[in-house]
This record gives sequence, structure tokens and C-alpha cells, in this order.
Amino acid sequence: MRGFNRRLVEKLWDLGCDLFFNEQLSHHVSFRLGGSVPLFIIPSSMEGFLDTLRLLKEYEVPFRIIGKGTNIIPTDDEKDFAVISTERIDSIEIHDELINVSAGMSFKTLCLIALEHSLSGLERAFGLPGSVGGAVYMNAGCYGWEMAQNVVSLKVFDGKNVITISPSEAQFGYRDSIFKHEKSLIIISAVLKLAKGNKESIREIMIDTMRKRYEKQPLEYPSAGSVFKRPRPDFYVGTAIESLGLKGYQIGGAQVSEKHAGFIINRGNAKASDVLKLINFIKGKVKEYYGVELETEVEIW
Ligand SMILES: Cc1cc2nc3c(=O)[nH]c(=O)nc-3n(C[C@H](O)[C@H](O)[C@H](O)COP(=O)(O)OP(=O)(O)OC[C@H]3O[C@@H](n4cnc5c(N)ncnc54)[C@H](O)[C@@H]3O)c2cc1C
Repeated sequence: MRGFNRRLVEKLWDLGCDLFFNEQLSHHVSFRLGGSVPLFIIPSSMEGFLDTLRLLKEYEVPFRIIGKGTNIIPTDDEKDFAVISTERIDSIEIHDELINVSAGMSFKTLCLIALEHSLSGLERAFGLPGSVGGAVYMNAGCYGWEMAQNVVSLKVFDGKNVITISPSEAQFGYRDSIFKHEKSLIIISAVLKLAKGNKESIREIMIDTMRKRYEKQPLEYPSAGSVFKRPRPDFYVGTAIESLGLKGYQIGGAQVSEKHAGFIINRGNAKASDVLKLINFIKGKVKEYYGVELETEVEIW
């Protein structure tokens, strides 16, 4: 689909979308690598976002959704799908302990707004990169918290209509949800339940959590966070990789972080193929020494 239907492009412009043609995904993912997409669409409003979804469906244009791109490794080749960004779909409403937040809202901003309102429940998620939609999609989690704990309901575009679904219908599991399996379901917004708390205590936990992150994680390098899922609760992937002497191991520009062996970092000029080779190398070693099959947490596009 490198050539476009002129009418579709005009309709997207009429909706107020910003369009980027032959856009490098490296500009939009935290790993700073990967090939191009023929069309990168940034809708400017929720209405424009929903109309964009409908239009692409009507014109049978394959597409994917990107939040903040912090959990994606795009391969180096040219893609044959368009990408729709949620970055401007970021409204928020607060009613007592309930927060109604759009999918594109930055998770960090959400945590700071919760703090402003003395709402407790997200403090251990402070520092989680990405958007609300991305966190729901993969049921993101850290330091004993996971997204599913706060979700009361979700608004979802099912290909035709916007419907409301419950957490049980979202089928949350460890780094899993229905959205990973039913790609036609697009997360529009979420209602989250927090609890009234003490602002200073919330702030302290947030600062403590953020400190843990920058002490333990290589935040100074481009990456997509932890590469692998934990295969079982008692198997720590970073520790296993470290025990194999792989900290600092490098293929091309991709390196196993010296700081946290569960992270692969881009040393500046990594290609996606370097990262994928390194992932396969690590998988092979872990399988050989521990008999454990690792699965990636990051999405490969
Ligand atoms: C330094 C660093 C630290 C990290 N730490 C953690 C951590 O502690 N815990 C953790 O769980 N993750 C962590 N991550 C991974 C990542 O930040 C989270 O998974 C985050 O929730 C992804 O959000 P995103 O908006 O960037 O998603 P993206 O990377 O943009 O997208 C990820 C997937 O979600 C889909 N998606 C996004 N929005 C929608 C939507 N509205 N509807 C349907 N599908 C959608 C995309 O199509 C894609 O398949 C870390 C990443 C980095 C770089």
C-alpha cells in the first residue's frame, strides 16, 4: 500500500489529521530503530481518531496503533501497514475516586495528575513509560502493581462501534489482555478506580519508585524496557542472563545492558536486526543452560 487512494488522504486531512508519508518508525519508538511505514497518521481529537479508524476500515487499509512506542521493535524493512498514533488523544476527567482517561494519555502525566488530586493507587507505576492504551494492552506492571488492579471499565472500538467492556471481558493476565489476541479491538479510554490518600505519602512512594528505576535501569540509553516475560514467578530473567556472563554482550549496536541484564539497549547505531539476533542468542543460551523457553514481552512489528 505504498501508493495511496487520493480520496482517503484528502478525507484524513479533512478530519484534521497530520499525515507523514514514508515515515521512519525510529522517530516514534523508544528504541530509536526500525524501518518506515507508508503513512503515519496523527489524529487531533477523539472524534478524528474514531473517524480515522472507520475510514481505514472502509478503504481496507491495514493499520496498527501506536501509543508512545516504548514496547515496540519495528524490523528494519519497509512496512505495508499504516500507523495511527494516539498521542493527541489525551483527555482526562476526575470524579471523586474515578478517573476517566483517554488511551493516548502519558502514564507519567496520569500519575502526576493523580498525585495532584491526592489519589492513591498508581504511585508504584510512576516512571512507567508509555501511554494508558499501551499499559492496558499489555497489562503493564511493576513493583507489585499491574494495570488491571485499577481498571473499572474500558471503552473499546470493535471495528464498527464504541462499546464498554469490563475487566473480566478484557481477560487480563500476566502481561496479557484480550487486545493482544483480538487486534481489531482498539482501546479508546479507561475508567480507573483509585483511593483518596495522603498526598505526601503518595509523593514519597512515587519518588522512591522513580529512584529505583534510574538506579536499576539503563534509562540513559534507548531501549524498550525488559525484553522478556518472566516464564514463571520464580524465574528472574535478568538474573539468569547475568549468571551466563552476558552483561555487556553486544551484537552490532545492540547490547545486553551492563546495568540490568533484562534490558537490551541501543548503543547508538543499532539496527533492529542486531537486537533480534541478540534476542535469539540469549534465548538459545537460556534454553541451553536453564531449559527454559523465553518469550518476548516487547512487540516485534
Ligand atoms: C525504560 C523502559 C522501562 C519500562 N518499564 C516497564 C515496566 O516496568 N513494566 C512494564 O510492564 N513495561 C515497561 N516498559 C514497557 C512499556 O513502557 C510499557 O509496556 C507501556 O505500557 C507501553 O505503552 P506504549 O504507549 O509505549 O505502547 P506502544 O509501545 O506504543 O504499543 C505497544 C502495543 O500496544 C498496542 N497499543 C497501544 N495503544 C493501543 C490502543 N489504544 N489500542 C490498542 N492497542 C494499543 C500497540 O499496537 C502495540 O502492539 C518499559 C519500557 C521502557 C522503554
